[in-house]
Amino acid sequence: MGPTARFLASVSRSYSTHSPNVSSRHHTTAFIGLGRMGYEMAFNLFSRTLVESGGSAHFVVCDAKEESAALFVNNFHHHFPGARVEVASSPSDAVVASETIVTMLPSSPHVQKVYATEAGGILPALRSLSQGDIASTLCIDSTTLDVEVARDVAKEVNKTGAMMVDAPVSGGVAGAKAGTLSFLVGGTKPAFERVSPILSRIGKRIMYCGPSGAGLAAKICNNMVLGVQQIAIAEAMLLGQKLGLEPVVLADVINHSTGACWSSSVNNPVPGALPDKEPPCTRDFEGGFATSLMLKDMGLATEVGDLVGCPLPMGEAAERMYKEVIEAEPELANKDFSSVYKYLRLTADEESRKGRPGQSERI
Ligand code: NAD
Repeated sequence: MGPTARFLASVSRSYSTHSPNVSSRHHTTAFIGLGRMGYEMAFNLFSRTLVESGGSAHFVVCDAKEESAALFVNNFHHHFPGARVEVASSPSDAVVASETIVTMLPSSPHVQKVYATEAGGILPALRSLSQGDIASTLCIDSTTLDVEVARDVAKEVNKTGAMMVDAPVSGGVAGAKAGTLSFLVGGTKPAFERVSPILSRIGKRIMYCGPSGAGLAAKICNNMVLGVQQIAIAEAMLLGQKLGLEPVVLADVINHSTGACWSSSVNNPVPGALPDKEPPCTRDFEGGFATSLMLKDMGLATEVGDLVGCPLPMGEAAERMYKEVIEAEPELANKDFSSVYKYLRLTADEESRKGRPGQSERI
């Protein structure tokens, strides 16, 4: 299926009205994947690009869930009445209309599908463009996915003559909303130079990590640390309460001591432990970074660890823990991964009910 006639007509109509002498594709940015992260990133990217362009920029969004794309467009129009933002019905439509394409998808299979060589995917659409349009196209994938899959996809995109970088992010939904994300970029140096000013609109630190796949390698290592730390903080916060400590006191101690980390100072899993913040635990772990995505990231680390012969005893233990959480409490799969605390607490309560020795009734 090629680009839908209705979509292309709407794009060209809007340009013939607003800027008849310029190529519309050159001024258009597409964002594919409007989930928890993508929605916030697209909103910031589009609003800042719109302002910097003096109102001439055009935008395209695409999501597997049509309602997510429609919600985004409505909200964007609410904040920027008259802004030109369209919904593309497929990644292929988005690429035909846009020179810059950002993807923010759950994981490897979704990236493979969006960049697929089949109809509706990015690759056939790229190949259908003129040489000039292909050469000016920049694909930025911010998904956290398998390094090898990312390298293969980038290779295929590069073969067409377009540029592609892997640019996974660190900073969570709060960072996406505030425009303070860190981008870990893998690709050629010229691609990094081109992508930096674009990512600077939605991130605070844009770090060059090396060739294609290097951004993801860095991201996977970072998330393995995060996944382990969040479990350690959950255990410590639970243990402290069992020992009679107030969560707010314990969090303050940890956050001013050597145990301080993002999981304790920003994503603390105990409601009320951070009185001046609203981590996901204050919303029954809604929003944030899904436990299922953390399990995916731990799997990316342990799989690649196996592949390169690197022992990861803590990474493997954390992967087992997140798997156990999801198997035992399936509704926590889509909640923030700090809900590992909720699971540990439920387990502790269960043990208390059974009257196991050494279990305190204090919490
Ligand atoms: P999400 O599941 O909330 O969003 C993914 C979006 O992609 C959804 O809207 C989904 O409908 C859409 N999608 C799936 N398949 C699609 C397709 N074929 N075509 C178009 N759209 C499609 O996930 P998220 O939390 O936004 O995370 C996205 C990525 O960012 C993941 O790789 C995750 O590991 C990474 N990440 C997330 C966080 C976080 O705090 N949430 C932080 C850093 C990195």
